[in-house]
Amino acid sequence: MSKIVIIGNSLAGFSCCEALLKNAQDNEITVIAQEKVPAYKAHLLTEYLKDEIKEKDVFFCDKDFYIKNKIKFLKEAKVVRIDPKKHLAVLKDNTKINYDYLVIASGQKVDIPDIPGKTKDGVFAFYNFEEIKEIRGRALIANTVCLWGEPAIALKLGEIFLNKGREVKIISKPKPEVLPVSEKLEWIDDLELSEIIGEGAELKAIKLSNGKAIGVDLFLFVGNLIAASEFLKDTDLKTEEGYILVNDAFQANFEDIFACGSVARKQGMAEAKSWEAVINEGQLVANKILEGRKLACQQTS
Ligand SMILES: Cc1cc2nc3c(=O)[nH]c(=O)nc-3n(C[C@H](O)[C@H](O)[C@H](O)COP(=O)(O)OP(=O)(O)OC[C@H]3O[C@@H](n4cnc5c(N)ncnc54)[C@H](O)[C@@H]3O)c2cc1C
Repeated sequence: MSKIVIIGNSLAGFSCCEALLKNAQDNEITVIAQEKVPAYKAHLLTEYLKDEIKEKDVFFCDKDFYIKNKIKFLKEAKVVRIDPKKHLAVLKDNTKINYDYLVIASGQKVDIPDIPGKTKDGVFAFYNFEEIKEIRGRALIANTVCLWGEPAIALKLGEIFLNKGREVKIISKPKPEVLPVSEKLEWIDDLELSEIIGEGAELKAIKLSNGKAIGVDLFLFVGNLIAASEFLKDTDLKTEEGYILVNDAFQANFEDIFACGSVARKQGMAEAKSWEAVINEGQLVANKILEGRKLACQQTS
């Protein structure tokens, strides 16, 4: 029996977990994730925001999946450090989790700039299920939605909010040559965002670099993704721009640590991965772990 700890419960982490369960029953699997919900299909979140799919169809499994399969599911838990020499993952509450194999599938996150007011209620990073669920709810009553970040993503999301009948302000550059024809859309490319203003904790407006304030009810940071790997900062794990460097077997520079999905990178290969590729990587890591374990058993018997 091996203790396998998976950091991340999205496409890469879940596909690894599922493949481990399918091919061997005798492992002790722990899944650690920041969300409180079961594993979900992050690539369908835009369709979910558009109301094209129901909430139940976003999930890979129901909450009983973990109990039924004897998986220790540490939800709403954050890994803050790992110790590759002692084979430990350490959580924010200082719980230490021991592993024989560690799978890092911690993905990416939005790089939020240091703007005053960025923590106001009504301000979100557009990335994970729980935030997007709240955005979806708030969009029902918001008059004006403001998007800040990468132009292509801001445009795609802006169109969704226009279709929902909202006023949309996009602060981004360069401005695309072709924009939807709508008097409800304003694209701001000549001014910077200088402050997010609230009344108490609640978002009320944004302030631009010329001093002008615009009333907004929902504010989203979009795109500008970086590796979610800050818990590796004091380790000797090799990274490139924060992304974990892996070999063809998705093994990092410690033989019992694997990385897969959008947090993992082969040297010099910085291209974004499709969701299908991410799922394949999770399955491949599971198979590599099981092969390695079989080999180790043969050598000791
Ligand atoms: C809105 C949206 C729409 C998308 N649309 C498409 C699309 O149409 N086509 C496509 O190919 N791709 C799309 N993608 C990209 C695709 O979803 C990603 O490639 C995929 O989600 C990457 O999966 P992942 O498992 O590597 O990481 P992520 O989905 O980023 O999941 C990371 C997991 O790690 C956990 N985690 C992170 N840090 C920690 C920590 N310190 N401690 C504990 N847990 C941690 C998180 O809680 C999460 O469970 C979209 C993504 C989003 C967000």
